[in-house]
Amino acid sequence: MEEAAAPSKSSLKKAAKMAGKAEKKEKQVPVVGGKKDDSKEIIGITASKDSNFSLWYQELVVKGEMVEYYNEISGFYILRPAAMYTWNIIRKWFQERIEAMGVEETSFPMFLSSKSLEKEKDHVEGFAPELAWVTKAAHLNEESASKEVLEILEHYAGVYEQLLAVPVVRGKKTEAEKFAGGAWTTTVEGYIPANGRGIQGATSHCLGQNFSKMFDVTVEDPDKKGEKINVWQNSWGLSTRVIGVMCMLHGDDKGLVMPPRVARLQTILIPVGITNKMSAEDKASHAKKVEDLYETLKKAVLSYFATNDISALRDSNSLNGNSRGVPLRIEFGPKDAANNVVSYARRDSGEKGTIPVADIAIKVPELLETIQKSLYDKADAAFSSHRLVLTDWSKVVPALDSKNVVLIPFCEAPACEERIKEITKSEEPKEGAQNEKQPTMGMKSLCIPFEQPEGLTPETKCLNPECSALAKSWTMFGRSY
Ligand SMILES: [Zn+2]
Repeated sequence: MEEAAAPSKSSLKKAAKMAGKAEKKEKQVPVVGGKKDDSKEIIGITASKDSNFSLWYQELVVKGEMVEYYNEISGFYILRPAAMYTWNIIRKWFQERIEAMGVEETSFPMFLSSKSLEKEKDHVEGFAPELAWVTKAAHLNEESASKEVLEILEHYAGVYEQLLAVPVVRGKKTEAEKFAGGAWTTTVEGYIPANGRGIQGATSHCLGQNFSKMFDVTVEDPDKKGEKINVWQNSWGLSTRVIGVMCMLHGDDKGLVMPPRVARLQTILIPVGITNKMSAEDKASHAKKVEDLYETLKKAVLSYFATNDISALRDSNSLNGNSRGVPLRIEFGPKDAANNVVSYARRDSGEKGTIPVADIAIKVPELLETIQKSLYDKADAAFSSHRLVLTDWSKVVPALDSKNVVLIPFCEAPACEERIKEITKSEEPKEGAQNEKQPTMGMKSLCIPFEQPEGLTPETKCLNPECSALAKSWTMFGRSY
């Protein structure tokens, strides 16, 4: 299961054609690749998450040093070391778990059809197209295939919840939204509070026997020698999209906010209060203390720090970790040294405090775990409070306009879903509303959550007022990426 980053020649050709079209939009952010315009370089993030989410996101991932856009080809970008570091942690975590399941890997070239490129172009710029794993696994029977699909889904949820501090809802896709040609599709769905949109986290598909019958993929029946059976197939994969979702969720107007478990730089150490008035002796003495501190921190299970080069550390501006989302900033000046403490500031909450130098090896890792948990809890509270269970159709569009996703009784019929998409479009873009480009977007189904709310009876009708069918489930709908 190697990630297949190289697109095919034909997709490159197609993408090159599209480059011209997207150029106008791309110029809003610094780019590399021939047409870099230095006059447009800006140090901080200029767009606000609340008022211009799309531009904010583009700036976020560039200024946060996660990606650089490649202007020659629309939608292509370079994943920088910070993003690759995060991706490798995810990959290792995921790979250990699928190996434990006994999955054998096969590498496929990545397919980038012109259609998918066109589609990605309209999405929020950033982590698309993606580095990805695509895996097909073959099973003798439905039971074994189903078990794997659900196990993989749980690993996706683990990547989001345990590593990226992103809460997700696990569920099944409706017929209209499932993988075309497959039997059924499961998904983990996230939520972006800033604009109230749902975002698909990752999908795991059971293809059934459709493809094995189409391509005549058979194995010998272990129970009846000499007879062939068509295998049950699954398809699942994980892509760098997960990193984009994380950046989008946690980031703020200062830049990235990295969950400590996937942050390349977990802590940044900045010597402060060193002035020209200090004697050379005092400066040297403080520098020695900083060095000792660095050594202590290095042993405190933290894998990465900015640098232990004292001269580089003095340049605190260039090392200010805000835009890169460094979870914890530690400052150490002569006053701290006199009190035998270090001062810290949390990137997520801005909270400040001190830690006794003697306790650093224990307290810093604890604090990083606290930050990890706080990020998750904050996002989880936002998702929970914006997931409304509704039984009154008139409340649906107002709920969407107030940045919610909704759970409604639904018949699960594709035609009904198509109609719901139409009749939930807002009539007029609101003045000053964010995401002015798409204020009229109708809602689509995100998933049928495995955890169903109470209250559905055999008589419950589908909530679509134009539909007379009975509801099969509570289905989660929302405006979505
Ligand atoms: Zn219906």
